[in-house]
Amino acid sequence: MGRTKKAGRAGRFGARYGSTVRRRVAKIEEVEKALHKCPSCQTKAVRRVSTGIWKCRKCDHTFTGGAYSPATDAQKILRSLRERSVRR
Ligand SMILES: [Zn+2]
Repeated sequence: MGRTKKAGRAGRFGARYGSTVRRRVAKIEEVEKALHKCPSCQTKAVRRVSTGIWKCRKCDHTFTGGAYSPATDAQKILRSLRERSVRR
């Protein structure tokens, strides 16, 4: 494959869909395909199974999360609020 400087891993789409869309896809996919930290065993072994479903390869802990990332911004805010109320 040639240079895919702008589109990164979305370079597989060639010249299709426009550079803005391809760049957006690349950004989301980077998070989606990466290994994430397991909320149960803290190991970086969590993979996306399908939309919103995440599974740890080490301890088999399966949980729901965002469609393309294990925790959405809304979930992070909720969690921090909960932790704060527990501390009190
Ligand atoms: Zn785990």
